[in-house]
Amino acid sequence: MKKKQFKNSLKTQMLRMTIVPLAIMTIVIVAVSGSIVKKAITDKIEDELISNAELVGFIFDKYYVGDFRVETNSETGEVDLYKGDEKLNGDDTLMKNLSDVLGIQISIFYNDTRIITTLSDEEGNSAMGTAAAAVVKRDVLEKKESAFYTNVMVYDEKSFAYYKPLLSDDGTAIGMIAVCESGALVNREVIKYVIPVIAVCLIISVFFGFIMVRYNKRIANRIVKIDKYMNSLANGEFKSEMPRELMSADDEIKHLATDGKRMAHSLMMLVEYDALTELNNRRFADKKLQEIRVAAVEQGVKYCLCIADIDFFKKVNDTYGHEMGDVVLKAVADKLKAGMVGKGFAARWGGEEFLLIFKDRELDIARRELSMIMDQVRTIYVPDTDRQITMSFGLTALVPGETIDEVLNRADANLYEAKETGRDQIICK
Ligand code: GH3
Ligand code: MG
Ligand code: MG
Repeated sequence: MKKKQFKNSLKTQMLRMTIVPLAIMTIVIVAVSGSIVKKAITDKIEDELISNAELVGFIFDKYYVGDFRVETNSETGEVDLYKGDEKLNGDDTLMKNLSDVLGIQISIFYNDTRIITTLSDEEGNSAMGTAAAAVVKRDVLEKKESAFYTNVMVYDEKSFAYYKPLLSDDGTAIGMIAVCESGALVNREVIKYVIPVIAVCLIISVFFGFIMVRYNKRIANRIVKIDKYMNSLANGEFKSEMPRELMSADDEIKHLATDGKRMAHSLMMLVEYDALTELNNRRFADKKLQEIRVAAVEQGVKYCLCIADIDFFKKVNDTYGHEMGDVVLKAVADKLKAGMVGKGFAARWGGEEFLLIFKDRELDIARRELSMIMDQVRTIYVPDTDRQITMSFGLTALVPGETIDEVLNRADANLYEAKETGRDQIICK
């Protein structure tokens, strides 16, 4: 049988049902945990930068006692930043030491211009003289408030930075202290923490995905098997084997399979059996006859065929009623069925006629066995009467190669002769 391809097979649907929610769940967990980790690291860096900025300010205060002020050099015209008596621009030793110890970059601004800084580019060019971003100038210098940024440009690099205004004794903002950490470094740290989370999520997802896919596949396979079984029923193969997996779990599929089996039996009884006598019907007998014709030719199996007919059955009906006729028919069928056990096969050929097929027997053996069956039929009486039931039999051997019609015609002719010459006898030719 050709395997049916469904546009949207159950296996695909189940696979989708398993993989899609799991994938969405994994993405959500990764995204949420990623942003939680990022937020936690950002908060931590903000705290660190703030306390480092405070520390730098504190150390500055201790190191350089006095207030911040600006003086314009009368000779050069340049502006110098002082703290107390110490000129700050030019000497970055303290900054460098602090930067090394704290692992951050430190800058001191005069207005928005870096005049002391530990920042330099990849080639080692100091960021001295470069300006703070416009947003920083507005937030810190103009509003005179400290500010933390997670994504501000510091010397052409996106950075996490904290700026604190430097106020002179009259309260004007003359510059800023800035501490910063490279955004790339922070991102690397975020990634370092997020990767294990992603890895664990993926491992868990794959593990559960694997279990769910396997489980769903088993269910889908059982449904596919039921489908195949039903398909064979639809094709009239009532005896096809029920796959054992269908019975493996006490669930709806098992229930469906059991119903399928019962349906197969009911259908078989309807299609292949005669309801009154419980013998195989003529439709089945026809199929059987074609099979034995082939077996006789191909395997050399010897068959004898007999058509048997109840004598004066019409009279039974007329005298005792149709229902009593049915009782007699059933009794005759039972005798024929019992008589044919181990010898072959009996079917109701129609009305009160029966077909008997003797397998693997010469005609004389079949005749002897048939006469015993005839004796058995003679033991039947219409219930509660002394009316004995007899039958006439037309027996013949199947000649390999001949058609079923030919052999049946011969059996029929023998039956006719049996009827014509006294009934209750076997004619065998
Ligand atoms: P003969 O000995 O020549 O065979 O005589 P007969 O009366 O048996 O033959 P006939 O063909 O005249 O009658 C057969 C009867 O069998 C007629 C019919 O009503 C009856 N019959 C056929 N099928 C059934 C059935 O299922 N139940 C009953 N009760 N009678 C049936
Ligand atoms: Mg008849
Ligand atoms: Mg008859």
